[in-house]
Amino acid sequence: MAATTTGNRVAAPLTWRVGRLVERRVETPTAQTLVLEVPGWPGHLAGQHVDVRLTAPDGYQAARSYSLAGPAEGDQIALTVQRVADGEVSPYLIDVYAEGDPVEVRGPVGGWFIWRTEETAPVLLVGGGSGVVPLMAMIRARRAAGSRVPFRLIYSVRTPNDVIYADELRRRARDDQGLDVALVYTREAPEGWRGEPHRIGLADVNTHGWPSDLEPLCYVCGPTGFVETVADLLVGLGHQTRRVKTERFGPTG
Ligand SMILES: Cc1cc2nc3c(=O)[nH]c(=O)nc-3n(C[C@H](O)[C@H](O)[C@H](O)COP(=O)(O)OP(=O)(O)OC[C@H]3O[C@@H](n4cnc5c(N)ncnc54)[C@H](O)[C@@H]3O)c2cc1C
Repeated sequence: MAATTTGNRVAAPLTWRVGRLVERRVETPTAQTLVLEVPGWPGHLAGQHVDVRLTAPDGYQAARSYSLAGPAEGDQIALTVQRVADGEVSPYLIDVYAEGDPVEVRGPVGGWFIWRTEETAPVLLVGGGSGVVPLMAMIRARRAAGSRVPFRLIYSVRTPNDVIYADELRRRARDDQGLDVALVYTREAPEGWRGEPHRIGLADVNTHGWPSDLEPLCYVCGPTGFVETVADLLVGLGHQTRRVKTERFGPTG
């Protein structure tokens, strides 16, 4: 996705805008990317998110946050939504929300969990499940800006079928110089993967992360328990707390 309106804006006036679905991409059996046309979109930084608000015919409203999945293309933004079983909003966005339908969008939101393309420190990204979405936005922004900053992504998923952006990650790990991608499987690993499925641990972070003396910027995103575990591991390995940025998506599930 090309960057045309990434800009440098962190704080935009938080007004609700009406967006419409222009494209839907299936990422995994439970996750889809929704491309929305949002007239007047002010631009955003990698790592920021939007609030999405739905209104039922009887006036009932529900709002949830979704990370921006990459740089904007003009007035178009991309969100990647993972279906949460029994959820109120995510199943609607995946199964019911149709092309041309309106949805209210507010943002961009967030001034801490962001990566700026002018940063020079090495970057460690650690994502669990849909927590990869804002991290992918950083990988895409890096590419769009022609940045050579070394990036490492550790991405924890349940099974090979759950890898969001699987093809693009494979391609970028091959073509984007200085980007390394390591997958950790918690339930079922593909043939040829070293080791048994496991939850991310010290060995993964040690092997696929950066030594703390390089003072990398670390971004950790996913379910609450995942984020807390990884942040504790990083701090235990000597990374400075202020360089370990976290974003929690919800319960551990
Ligand atoms: C800053 C931010 C950015 C986010 N970005 C994304 C994103 O890019 N993609 C994305 O898919 N989601 C993202 N989320 C999560 C999203 O906001 C919703 O929480 C999620 O879609 C579930 O909403 P729901 O209405 O379907 O479920 P709800 O009706 O809110 O919840 C249904 C049940 O599922 C549990 N639950 C809620 N959220 C989760 C979760 N994340 N994991 C497991 N169980 C859960 C609830 O406790 C409840 O039991 C983000 C959250 C935050 C705070």
